[in-house]
Amino acid sequence: MSAREARALTECLFASDNTPEVDGADDLYAVYNEEGQYHIVDLRTRSCTCRDHQYRCSQHREMHCKHVYRVLFREGRPIPEWADRSRIDPLLLRTIEERADDD
Ligand SMILES: [Zn+2]
Repeated sequence: MSAREARALTECLFASDNTPEVDGADDLYAVYNEEGQYHIVDLRTRSCTCRDHQYRCSQHREMHCKHVYRVLFREGRPIPEWADRSRIDPLLLRTIEERADDD
């Protein structure tokens, strides 16, 4: 299991594609933490403005920072079997359930 994936699932994060920071830009998401700080994720290239991505993940094509993982989960990446659903960020669960209702 990936520690970054686990953090993307359990930490309190908010990923949005229509806040002012990214409005009008396809495939761009702003991922906010509880303090309101954010990083910009480009879903097309799976890149992110955070240090974790810049210094580590960009060297490994299959390694993503927690922000990219959060956007991937929000957009339909399946929740892994090992994940304890009771620990998943309720905001993410709600987003996933709402998407399922739309289908
Ligand atoms: Zn990041």
